[in-house]
Order: sequence, then structure tokens, then C-alpha cells
Amino acid sequence: MLEMFGRKYRINPQTLRVEQAKLPVKQRILAGVIIGLFIAGTAVGMRVIYDQHAKSPRLSHYEKKNMELREAYRHLSLDLLEDEELLAEFRRRDDRLYRSLFGMDPIPSSIREAGTGGAVMYSALHSISNPDMVIDVFDRVDKVLMKARIQSSSFEYLEEAARHNQQLLACKPQIQPISPADPYWLTSTFGYRTDPFTMMRRLHHGIDLAGPYGLNIHATGEGVVKIAEHSRWGYGNEVFIDHGFGYTSRYAHLQDLMVKPGDKVKRGQVIGTLGSSGRSTGPHLHYEITHYGRALDPMHFYFEELTPEEYNLISSRAAVE
Ligand SMILES: [Zn+2]
Repeated sequence: MLEMFGRKYRINPQTLRVEQAKLPVKQRILAGVIIGLFIAGTAVGMRVIYDQHAKSPRLSHYEKKNMELREAYRHLSLDLLEDEELLAEFRRRDDRLYRSLFGMDPIPSSIREAGTGGAVMYSALHSISNPDMVIDVFDRVDKVLMKARIQSSSFEYLEEAARHNQQLLACKPQIQPISPADPYWLTSTFGYRTDPFTMMRRLHHGIDLAGPYGLNIHATGEGVVKIAEHSRWGYGNEVFIDHGFGYTSRYAHLQDLMVKPGDKVKRGQVIGTLGSSGRSTGPHLHYEITHYGRALDPMHFYFEELTPEEYNLISSRAAVE
């Protein structure tokens, strides 16, 4: 056996030629495994280096998409902030302005905040990477929707209340039955007085307004004429109007009746003329207002700030309609 250039040689006893010495089988397998591991290790190492320094086109594509989505969510989140602020403003106006205008209580927070999804509903979203932002946006969109629905129904309710209020304002007997431009004076107020016929103290259920015969008498609110005839009870020629909302008004001792039962009348409309029919000591209007059957002092129902011009405007409008 001789060694040359680091390789082992031996003489083959059969051929008597110098041949390269072969390693034993065990050592050859070991060498094979070591070489194999080395090649595999190198490959893995190169792959890692490649991945770290040069991304695959597909990876960069998804990373770009991911960034775009994040940006989109950020924008969505900002837009939502505006919606939320707008809703909060609606809510403030609803509670402070509209609801107080109609004497209604604000909608309690428990109702306004109720029924929104919560974390459980978004459990499916937890499987995506970085779910917080997405869940936050979903949650807020849900809340905005719910609050918008509640706000919408609140506005519907307010609209209804406004309509009701408007109607009430139109119907409630709220002007003087004689124009302030006409000559008349108050001769008897509401309350207890001595009856001019029986000389007994009794409740006077209305007010008496004296003036010349033939003065126009106006309906003091919108309503339906229930009675327009000569009364058996001393009221003389009377008009009785049902204004709805529990209100009625009576105009007694009239000279002429200018409406008939079933007529719809507007505020300011002329319904008759001043006279002295029935139990009357002189030309005057006896005017009564009741609310659910209870007599009220008509003096409390006047629009005191109403000028003769405004009054004329109301009655001329009623005449047109
Ligand atoms: Zn009277």
C-alpha cells in the first residue's frame, strides 16, 4: 500500500497492477450520508437567504394587496367617524330641541345603545390575521346602522307629534270671537256672579261681550258646527262648535246664524252676528269654552299679542277657505 497525492493505492494481487484503494462499505455509506446532508443543508440555506433578500413575485403581490386593504380600512374608519359624529349631532338635536319642543322625554341611552352586535358576532373574523381593525370597523358600521334606525323612527314619531301639535294649534279656540278692531266691551267675566234674572249667585260659565247689533262673530278655532239653532235653554240663537282634542266653544244670544250643523269652520270664519236673543238684557255675546266638559275662562285663551290687522288676516283667510 502506498500513498500518493493523499490517495491510497494498493497492488492487486491478481492483476499485479497498482489500483486505487476502495474504502470499506460502512465508511462509504457514511461518506454518502454526509455529502447528502451537506447538499440538502446548502439548498435550504440558499432558499432562506433567497427568501429573505429576494421576495417571490407572488409574496410581494399579496403584501401590496394587504397594504392596500389596510389603507382602505383606514379610510373607511375615518368615514365612519364622520357618520358617527353626524349621528351624535342628530341625537343631540333630537333630545334637546325637538323633544323638548313637544314636551317629550329624550330616548333613554339603554334603547339608543341596545342591540348592537358585540364581539361574539364577529368571531368568524378572528381567523384572519390582524383582525382588530376589521372587527372595529364591522362593529362600528353595525352601531351606526342601528342608531340611524332608532333616530329615523324617533324623527317619524316627532313628525307625528308635530302634525298633531299643528292640528291642535289650528283647532284650539284661541282668538277673540269679536275682532279687536270692532267696538265691544267686556260686561261679565268668568266665575260666580249674581244672575241678572234670578238674582241668585251662580257660576257664569263664560264671558259676556257687549256691542252693537250685527257685529261679526268669528269662530275662535277650527272645528265642526254641532249646534246652530235657537236654544231652549235661554242661549237664544246659538252656535256650538266641536274643535276636537276635547275643546268646544259656544256663541250665544246671536242675531243671525250664518252656519248650520255639520259645517266645517276655520278659525276667524264669521259664524253669526251679535244680537240679544234668548235670556238677554241687551245686545251681547255670551262666549263659552269647555275642555272635556269643564268650563274654562275664555280670557286665558286669547292671543293677547294679536293686532287688529293680524286678526283681520286670519278672518279673511277663513272667509276665502
Ligand atoms: Zn253670559
